[in-house]
Amino acid sequence: MNYKIENGKLLIYENDDFKIIEDDLYITDGEITSIGKNASIDDSDFEKINAADHLVMPGLINMHTHAYMTPLRNYADDVDFAEWLFNRVNPVEDNMAVEDAYTANLLAFAEMIMSGTTMYADMHMFRCQSAKAAKEAGMRALIGRGLVGDDLYTDGYRRFKEALDELEEYSSDMIRFSFAPHAIYTCSPKFYEQITKEADKYGVLKQTHLSEGIIEVSDSLEKYGKTPVALLKETGFLDNAILAHCVQMRDNDIEIIKECGATVVTNPASNAKLGNGFAPVNEFLEAGVNLCLGTDGTSSNNTLNMFREMGLLSLIHKGLNKDSTAAPAKTVIKAATINAAKALGMEGKLGIIKEGAKADLIFLDLKLPNMFPANNIISSLCYSANGSEVDSVMINGKFVMKDRVLTTIDLEKVLNDSSKWSRFLK
Ligand SMILES: [Zn+2]
Repeated sequence: MNYKIENGKLLIYENDDFKIIEDDLYITDGEITSIGKNASIDDSDFEKINAADHLVMPGLINMHTHAYMTPLRNYADDVDFAEWLFNRVNPVEDNMAVEDAYTANLLAFAEMIMSGTTMYADMHMFRCQSAKAAKEAGMRALIGRGLVGDDLYTDGYRRFKEALDELEEYSSDMIRFSFAPHAIYTCSPKFYEQITKEADKYGVLKQTHLSEGIIEVSDSLEKYGKTPVALLKETGFLDNAILAHCVQMRDNDIEIIKECGATVVTNPASNAKLGNGFAPVNEFLEAGVNLCLGTDGTSSNNTLNMFREMGLLSLIHKGLNKDSTAAPAKTVIKAATINAAKALGMEGKLGIIKEGAKADLIFLDLKLPNMFPANNIISSLCYSANGSEVDSVMINGKFVMKDRVLTTIDLEKVLNDSSKWSRFLK
């Protein structure tokens, strides 16, 4: 289906800046093919979408999450980190069946779509379930099977084989894969070296958790005499890698990350909730590091709502730095769109309304009390919106939600199937 979107306001990014224009948008075969009143296009077979009183903007890109973890939402809160991980999260993961992970992913996508996210970067534990669910739901994804071990070809091989299997079975224009070693406290430096070589061989991206908490850094300094960042630089892994968290930066960590062309994904809600602190976002921005935004999983957030995360990113860093100009709205929106596309090697294709870009679009109702008056729509995305304004979502030129009704996910069935989780949620 081809579409002509009429009468809407469009969020455009040009010359390193966002602006709002009012114009038509033509979508052909999943791509934006023209912006503006274009009399030369024969639009007789285009479906016309009336976007009056709506903002049409690029779908948000959640660059770090664990979609399979939705059963753990509000399950282990207000407890210390060791209790949270070892006594609450791990036992549930051990008792989840493959079909539970599949349903968990669909529930995650329903929440993502209904709050304006069109793509997610995932680290998971259940072979093919993220990819299978994403394919059915029409989500765009970067998927990585979580990997752990000292040696990729011995103790790490079972999981790595699963990563290769799903890569072979599900790779597509919509679903891309990455190799995702978990963290330096579960994977050896040799393991990271091996993964780096395999990622080069398969031409896939790399993602990992890095410098999330103080203990990770002090243990690394004691064991290796280096920060986690310096340790991973030596393995070659940091080059163009996607690094979740990076809260505890020491020495010249930030310069190393910049030098290696790595992307930092900050997760403000998760870092605050688990008591890990706040990433030095201002310093990353000043150093020119590519900064993206993620929610992390629902057990440490407890939502997958990128509008909430954008608001938190800005407010936390204004408060933390005692600087009302820190993390301004445009910087935050860029982290959730343009910068994510850069990390994915998809600049100009994702996270932007532009001719030749993928038609991953969200439609926000501006005629709502919290969005009125529309003094500054760009500000409102960061400071007023909560995701419920999103009433329609298009991914790759297909509506996955229209007027608040999901078209690819049977939400009633997903909610019903999720009631079976009581079996392992004690
Ligand atoms: Zn994570």
